Amino acid sequence: MSQPNLLGIEDLEPAEILRILDAAEHMVEIGHRAVKKVPTLRGRTIVNLFFEPSTRTRASFEIAGKRLSADVINFSPSSSSLKKSESILDTARTLDAMDPDAVVVRHGVAGVPKRVADVLSAPVINAGDGAHEHPTQALLDCFTVRQQKGRIDGLTVTIVGDILHSRVARSNIYAFLKLGAEVRVAAPPPMLPPHVEQMGVKAFTSLREALDGADVVMALRIQNERLAGAYFPSAREYSATFGLDRAKMRYAKDDAIVMHPGPVNRGVELSHDLADHRPSVILDQVRNGVALRMAVLYLYAGRRTADEG
Ligand code: ASP
Repeated sequence: MSQPNLLGIEDLEPAEILRILDAAEHMVEIGHRAVKKVPTLRGRTIVNLFFEPSTRTRASFEIAGKRLSADVINFSPSSSSLKKSESILDTARTLDAMDPDAVVVRHGVAGVPKRVADVLSAPVINAGDGAHEHPTQALLDCFTVRQQKGRIDGLTVTIVGDILHSRVARSNIYAFLKLGAEVRVAAPPPMLPPHVEQMGVKAFTSLREALDGADVVMALRIQNERLAGAYFPSAREYSATFGLDRAKMRYAKDDAIVMHPGPVNRGVELSHDLADHRPSVILDQVRNGVALRMAVLYLYAGRRTADEG
């Protein structure tokens, strides 16, 4: 990889994205074994530093590290000296002095993983920073689409919902465009970032038009924790116009798949039926998240192993 840290998809070359996806293919096989463990990162230490809640990302980084035989430490801000007002950067320096091989950081403020990376000698993996980026989510989404469709190049990917506040949307826009897909975004006007088309996407305020001919439809959670003010009249109205259900999916291609990064607001951005059944691939995304994060840890935390040959 050309950079020591994985801070965002914006910084990656298409070939680097494909290298991570290809490495993840090998990791899937390890997950199918009776003993799901290989010695690749034995003797390495990975610190999970999560300042925002997480279920899937934190658990899958922990499982991924353990499957590679690394020692994984989950650092919890609520029971640390952050409670005694130690700053994030001092906390990071303290952890760095214990010589970890990678630090996985999630924070509610955009740019914190970059600031942590600036003071650490270990590689930093961004596990989601504010409304900025969530690179491993986009990588596992690309992996899932390639698994389901056999390719990414030439597909039409429609991302629906709170584009403005979604780090998943930003990372996926970069990733799918870099891999040759057409990317559309659809949302009520206040949830579309100004000038979003400058990123290379097509923007729609009509869901029907955005879904026309789509191969992949990705619903996003409304980021209530990042909303200040009203962006739509009510959850009910949002669901009627932008919530995905089987009837609206008829506008997309017959074999279109439905994705969601989780957690799902059932009945708001996705109907219960669609959340639980095909063509939704939500649990495939979760499953692939482990293999994808194994690949990321191998390529970033294993650098010294690789360099030492
Ligand atoms: N889990 C994803 C994230 O952390 C998506 C979401 O929370 O809506 O960004």
